[in-house]
Amino acid sequence: MRNLILFMLGLTLIYSSKIEAQNQTDQPFSSPKLVVGIVVDQMRYDYLTRFWDQYGQDGFKRMIKDGYNLKNNHYNYVPTYTAPGHTSIYTGTSPRYHGIIANNWYDRYVDQYIYCADDQKVQPVGTRAEAGKMSPVQLLASTVTDQNRIATQFKGKTIGVALKDRASIMPAGHSANAAYWFYGKDEGHFITSSYYMDELPQWVKSFNQSGKADAYLNQKWEPLHPLSTYTQSGPDKTDYEGGLRGQTTFPYDLKKISQKENDKGEAYGYDLIFNVPFGNSLTTDFALAAIDGEALGQDEITDFLTISYSSTDYVGHNFGVNSKEVHDTYLRLDKDIARLLKGLDEKVGKGSYTVFLTADHAAVQVPAYLRSQKMEAGYVNPKTLNADIKAFVQQKYQEEGLLSSHSNRQIFFNYKKLDSLDINRREMANALKDYLTTYPKIAQVYTREMIESGGFSGLIAGRIKNGFNPKRSGDVVYEFEPAYYASSSRTGTTHGSAYKYDTHIPLIFYGKGIHKGETTQASEIVDIAPTLSALLGIAFPNATTGKVLYQVID
Ligand SMILES: [Zn+2]
Repeated sequence: MRNLILFMLGLTLIYSSKIEAQNQTDQPFSSPKLVVGIVVDQMRYDYLTRFWDQYGQDGFKRMIKDGYNLKNNHYNYVPTYTAPGHTSIYTGTSPRYHGIIANNWYDRYVDQYIYCADDQKVQPVGTRAEAGKMSPVQLLASTVTDQNRIATQFKGKTIGVALKDRASIMPAGHSANAAYWFYGKDEGHFITSSYYMDELPQWVKSFNQSGKADAYLNQKWEPLHPLSTYTQSGPDKTDYEGGLRGQTTFPYDLKKISQKENDKGEAYGYDLIFNVPFGNSLTTDFALAAIDGEALGQDEITDFLTISYSSTDYVGHNFGVNSKEVHDTYLRLDKDIARLLKGLDEKVGKGSYTVFLTADHAAVQVPAYLRSQKMEAGYVNPKTLNADIKAFVQQKYQEEGLLSSHSNRQIFFNYKKLDSLDINRREMANALKDYLTTYPKIAQVYTREMIESGGFSGLIAGRIKNGFNPKRSGDVVYEFEPAYYASSSRTGTTHGSAYKYDTHIPLIFYGKGIHKGETTQASEIVDIAPTLSALLGIAFPNATTGKVLYQVID
């Protein structure tokens, strides 16, 4: 009997140590059924903290309390614009390697300006407008969404959703099943291109016919709560807002404003939806419809849904960082995110999906407002600067047409002309650098030769190098002093610089496979894609320069 007991005890011990070994090595890897990427266009990190007290429990707070919050996450290149931002998030690399150096750039090989998502070889689908001729044809690197397609034998789906085409197309990558974006004007529909399909699926047609866009534009935009409770923003009426057709105070009668013409005789029409927080609500509606329509997250093979909230960017540009309108837009976005998470719980299942939330860039406080408070800030007149650069080169070489473009704070030389006149490119770049270094409000200037030969790091130089694509970028690159940008407008704000106000953005991971926690340790935007790859156990996007945020994942 005693022997039998000892024998059984021995068996139990062997058995339990086997289970333990299995847990460590053999446990079947279980990926989330769905990964949802949320990019909030122009969201500064401090929008999480500024409006914290007025956020509900089920939106931003739910993600932060149950997920992992990286409080010191930054862009690592310039210019900090929408297309490079979305592309860097999903490729895990900077414009140097993924090639999306701006929203629009000068292409020296075809001698014209191109738009990042423009593709004249494809046809619009779901619209009569040219706005449908879009694809990721300019994207040089693979995305984490591409890698998931490859890893799942193209069974895991990728669907991109945003009002802005570039914010839908770049995240969804080359191999997406679909990217949808919104065409406003007189149509007001989500559309796509023949790059993805020849006809809109029935669920998109039904959504477009549902009248949702009309319903949003048939109402007034009033503050969610009494304005007296909006203590974390400036007065509703200031001199620093561009507004909607000149209107800068609540309430906004959207129907009236959508029909009101500007001085060029153009009405917003459905384009008004981009400019108000309801554009984010419409995006949420469409994302939830996409989960149903495409059966996302309904089996064990991981799908990707990439969502970008574009309206935050338009409201930010029009009204500025400190406005009541931005304040209200984020309180409303919080509700949309809560609604999205609730939809994911119901449709995919709590604990079965993973979400991350970040932004494509942040924004500067309106320089005119900062100036009014005795802060060093302001503007450089873009026309004057451009004319001065041209005049300098012309005077020095006694020739016209030596420059072919000045865009995105880069100056492009006309190589053909320089060669024909035997002008040395490096000499001309150095001369222009010397000139621009003395120019008021320009902080630093770098030539192509410097950028390509130097091991650059630091606030400006390192970010210029990461944003510099040898084929697509210019010959001289400069950065303004902090809180300065090129504009003739004194209202509203913008983004694009190497400074913290443009680079510091939220990064929150939440859901399956994500630890609870927070850190103020520095992370970079290029870390997101390799972290997702590690979470899914799939190959990294091919040009990733980021690191795995190992503390975030199991
Ligand atoms: Zn913007």
